[in-house]
Amino acid sequence: MTARTLNLDDSLYQYLLDVSLRETPLLKRLRDETQALPMARWQVAPEQGQFLALLVKLTGARQLLEIGTFTGYSALCMAAALSDEGSLICCDMPGDYNAIARRYWEEAGLGKRIDLRLAPALQTLGMLDQPGEFDLIFIDADKANYPAYLEHALRLLRVGGLAVFDNTLWSGRVLESHPQSADTRAIQALNRALKDDARVDLSLLPLGDGLTLCRKR
Ligand code: CA
Repeated sequence: MTARTLNLDDSLYQYLLDVSLRETPLLKRLRDETQALPMARWQVAPEQGQFLALLVKLTGARQLLEIGTFTGYSALCMAAALSDEGSLICCDMPGDYNAIARRYWEEAGLGKRIDLRLAPALQTLGMLDQPGEFDLIFIDADKANYPAYLEHALRLLRVGGLAVFDNTLWSGRVLESHPQSADTRAIQALNRALKDDARVDLSLLPLGDGLTLCRKR
């Protein structure tokens, strides 16, 4: 027994998936199609998608926002967990992968629930005039803007709402002492700032590549 987070080797990780992953055939097909793309690493882990769906249900979230959508796996997980009155705004850049996301959302019958806005996310966020109206915001876009996305998230979330950041352990690169990469520096800055940010309650889960949950106080 140990009082620290387990280090999952391949077989224990596979066990975790075997006993808990409830991926639908549609999600599995989307994940396989995405896996063949050059940017496949942008896709969330399937257990993260399932966890996001659980968060939507746990919090009773109705108004969702996603920053960084790619081929739409996490959006599909979250939209499927919404009640009929719920909706999801997705921010991403125009790219060939937008069509993949839309195709799967349509096939799932969730196309009407998801509003994909194609522009730099900071531009879309700046135009969102619904302060305090979002219940949950999932952030998985360009890492260099993570600190800026936090500020937008805190403006847009209701009190008690959740901001969820992906890749906050960044494959371990957060340990670099003099990172060349602006992405690494931004994730480090976000993590450091969140530690003492009195505006949020905080937990960094070692799920996937690190998933940080911030509850707006
Ligand atoms: Ca990610």
